[in-house]
Amino acid sequence: MSREEFVIPAPALPVGCGGLFPVRRIFCVGRNYAEHAREMGGDPSREPPFFFMKPADAVWCPQHAEARWPYPPATHEVHHEVELVVALRGGGLELSVQEAAEAIYGYAVGLDMTRRDLQAEAKAKGRPWDVAKGFDASLPVSTLLPKPGEALHGGEIGLEIDGALRQRGDLAQMIYDVPAVIAEISRYWRLAAGDLILTGTPAGVGPVRPGERVRAWVEGVGELAFVVGEGD
Ligand code: MN
Repeated sequence: MSREEFVIPAPALPVGCGGLFPVRRIFCVGRNYAEHAREMGGDPSREPPFFFMKPADAVWCPQHAEARWPYPPATHEVHHEVELVVALRGGGLELSVQEAAEAIYGYAVGLDMTRRDLQAEAKAKGRPWDVAKGFDASLPVSTLLPKPGEALHGGEIGLEIDGALRQRGDLAQMIYDVPAVIAEISRYWRLAAGDLILTGTPAGVGPVRPGERVRAWVEGVGELAFVVGEGD
């Protein structure tokens, strides 16, 4: 009997200077900016940020600004959340903040796209968030900018739709800064090269609709632009 062999393309992100960064896992941080925690009905002084995941093949990297992001099925309310994405070149368990900074490979601009209607239903029923957060192409992301071992502590982060500003904040407003967020996640998982971390979104989240032009940026990291496509 012959053994069948499968060739499955592994998710990867283009690196700005050439090459590909293979994506291992995608960790996300919830409510890491106080203003956003409040707009979601939380109290940042009482609840620390928390974690959830997206599948590795949620990455969707547009080749150009006219690329059409596939609007997901089974929803009437998809929200944008602009976030700084950290890519790791190393890892470990229970990292110190110094070790966490050493583990940084580079950065990208990403959107934690969210089926907000399904998330509200999941929250109400005490169910997991996977259907809300982990759908296909739920992480539009820019090319990666290598900054090995370099912790970013400030810089504007923002998003506009059809030229109108929707989200604007500063990386300095993060409750857990970049090394702290890596260290915190490493209390629960053994981090490794290839892991991505979405570090949370500033206030101003809201819906995207087919035909709209989305542009997002992080100062000193880059820009992400695409058009929201029609659903199937
Ligand atoms: Mn988010």
